[in-house]
Formats: sequence, structure tokens, C-alpha cells
Amino acid sequence: MAERVVVVGGGIAGASAAAFLSENADFHVTLVEQERNLAHHTTGRSAAQWIQNYGVPATRALTKASFDFFASPPEGLVDSALLHDRAVLLIGNEHQEEGFRELLAAGQDSVPPARQLTPEEAAVLNPGVDPETTAFVMIEDGSFDIDVAATHQAFVRMLKRNSGTIATSTKVNAATPTADRWSVHTTAGPIVADYLVNAAGAWGDVVAEAAGIQPVGLQPRRRTAFMVNGSALPDADMSRSSEWPMLINVAHDWYVKPDGQQFLCSPADQTPSEPMDARPEELDIARAIDIINKYTRFQIRSVVSSWAGLRTFAPDESMVIGPDPANRRFIWCVGQGGTGIQTSPAAGRLTALLTSCEQLPIDLAAVDLAAILADRFR
Ligand SMILES: Cc1cc2nc3c(=O)[nH]c(=O)nc-3n(C[C@H](O)[C@H](O)[C@H](O)COP(=O)(O)OP(=O)(O)OC[C@H]3O[C@@H](n4cnc5c(N)ncnc54)[C@H](O)[C@@H]3O)c2cc1C
Repeated sequence: MAERVVVVGGGIAGASAAAFLSENADFHVTLVEQERNLAHHTTGRSAAQWIQNYGVPATRALTKASFDFFASPPEGLVDSALLHDRAVLLIGNEHQEEGFRELLAAGQDSVPPARQLTPEEAAVLNPGVDPETTAFVMIEDGSFDIDVAATHQAFVRMLKRNSGTIATSTKVNAATPTADRWSVHTTAGPIVADYLVNAAGAWGDVVAEAAGIQPVGLQPRRRTAFMVNGSALPDADMSRSSEWPMLINVAHDWYVKPDGQQFLCSPADQTPSEPMDARPEELDIARAIDIINKYTRFQIRSVVSSWAGLRTFAPDESMVIGPDPANRRFIWCVGQGGTGIQTSPAAGRLTALLTSCEQLPIDLAAVDLAAILADRFR
């Protein structure tokens, strides 16, 4: 008889973990989400970008190991491409040379390697770059827009075709270990599980405590995003916006990403928060408008829409994936921070392989498990 796996959380982390767990014929997987719709929280609020030169080393290894799934997803899971070319320009002002040099050095591991441009060259690639206020620029050519909804849907399709089940509007309130399994108490009634997978995002430590497992110290941090009309960039030919790279400040103080006839902007804020349905603050938006107007050719006067989401980090900013050392039937899949979309195929695969204690294939063997397992916090 198949072992029963309950995955808590229907964001990208839970969907990918559930999908790859369901590929194992020894498991029957149920994905449980407290909201009426999957991907309601952080997953539905991202900037949808795939960036190699970002995050701690274990995250970078997961990003790399995710590329093949995005570039050529398994047959029958997607209707159109998951990735579209979108280079990234990392730009700095005259006071940001040190941070720029560090990023440029780290970007030599990217494929193709990051390379320095003059501000004038960058302004040709994206008319938002202001050569007057920009001192340093590098380009990461190997970056992409991610179709987040289609990626999430691909994991859901994978789960469903492997006879997995999905329970929405179902909150896990507690879980009690019994002999060698779990009794999971949900708002829709009890479920018996052999493994409990915690992919609850900002609520990861709450779910752990509800199962009697020691938390790992997760910190949700609010990040704000807002859309502005193309008219915020004077004289820009928006019909070419799909070719323009995303602009990111090297100190991660702000970013601007072309999105059709609009731009997605962010102050790249990181305000500590309780787990909650995050909302944007006017002050964060005003601060972003000030700094973007100061250091680029944008003249933002009004905002079309805004939102916020919680990026949740472990204390060392590396993800927490795999069995808990105190109860190996409790599996962590949390701490996705600002890279949960771009790492999701590899993070889901790693979660599944660590659950069934299988040997890791060569791409995942590049992930330093000492920097991933919950054991590092005990
Ligand atoms: C503004 C912004 C920009 C971003 N840009 C990028 C980007 O460009 N690229 C990238 O890779 N990442 C980006 N991220 C980060 C990315 O969105 C997250 O890392 C990722 O979505 C986290 O996914 P998750 O599944 O862990 O969390 P979530 O999507 O929040 O999912 C967790 C789910 O668990 C559910 N849950 C919690 N507790 C329970 C319970 N007790 N019972 C049942 N269900 C429960 C919640 O309802 C929630 O749906 C960005 C984030 C933000 C906010």
C-alpha cells in the first residue's frame, strides 16, 4: 500500500514538492491549502524573474538545477513556454562601486558570465537608464521572465496525473505524531499521514509548532510592488518593451521591470512581519518613486495598482529542506525568500528525494546539504 503524504501549503513550494513526491509510486500525495485558491499568498505576488547571480550558494545551486525543467518541461504539463528572455541590468551610482564589483565578480559564474557595460551602452538597451546618474552597469544576459501561473499549474497537473489530491479551504490546525505516522487535524476533519511536508511559507514555523516540532527561526519580510503606466518613461516606444532588460540597483534598493504597456516597480523593501495577508504601505511606494525618479529617466507621477507579499527567510537566508532531525516523518520545505519561483523545480525534486532517502542526481548533489537541512539549527 502507498504511504500517505500530506503537503501543507499550496504556493509554488508546496505544489512543486507535491508534484515531485507524486512521481514516486510508493506515495499518495494530498496537497492542503487554507485559502480558497492555490497560490493566493507570496506565489501570486512575485516579480516573476529568473536571475542566476542572486542568493546564497545553496540557492544558486538550486536555481541552476531548476533551469532544465523551465526550459524543457516534461511532456504534457504546459501549453506554452515557461521562460522568455529578459536580461537584467544591475546599475549603481558613484557611491556603489564596492557592491558593484562584488556582484560583477559573483556574476562570472553565470552562464553567460555577467559583463560590464558603459552607462551609455546600457541606455541603448533600456531607455530608463540615465547615463548622468549611473556610474556602473553590468548585464546578466542569461536571465528570464518566468510564467509563474503556468509553472504552478504545471506542478498541479503533474500531481493530478499521478492521482494526487488537492484540498483547498482546508487549514491544518495541528498534527499529532502517533507511533510511525501523523494524525493531521484540519478544518475539514482529520487525515492520517505517513509524512507531513511543511511548505507553509510565512507560516512555516507556525505549522512546525502545531506539529510539536522545534521552529527554525523563519522571518517573513514584506516586499512591496506596484505598476505604473508606460507614460512614466517619457518618449519611450513601449512597443519595444519586451526587449528591454529589467533594471535592478546593485544595493537592491529598487528595481523596475517592463511588463507589457506598464512597468513593475519595487522599493525592494524587507520589513519584518508576522505571517499574514500582506498589504502595501503608501510610504514604501513613495520612497520607491523618489529613488527611481532620482536615479533613472523615469518620471513616475501615479500608480496603477500595488500589492505586497512576504518573502520568508531562515536566519542564514538559505532554504530549509528535508526531514527534521527529531522526527524524520516531518519534512521541511520553507525559507524560499526571494527566489522561491526560480528554484521551485529543484527544491520540489530535492524535497521528494530527501523524503524517500534516495541518492541525489548530479545536479542536486551540487547543493550543499549542510546549508539546507534543518539539522544546522539544532
Ligand atoms: C514582491 C515580490 C517579488 C518576488 N520576486 C521573485 C522573483 O522575481 N523570482 C523568484 O523566484 N521569487 C520571487 N519572489 C519570492 C517568491 O514569490 C517566494 O519565494 C515564493 O512564492 C514562496 O512560495 P511559498 O510556496 O513558500 O509561499 P506561499 O506562496 O506564501 O505559499 C504558502 C501557502 O501555505 C498556506 N498555508 C500556510 N499555513 C497553512 C495551514 N496551516 N494550512 C493550510 N495551508 C497553509 C498559505 O495559505 C499559502 O498559500 C518575490 C516575492 C515578492 C513578495
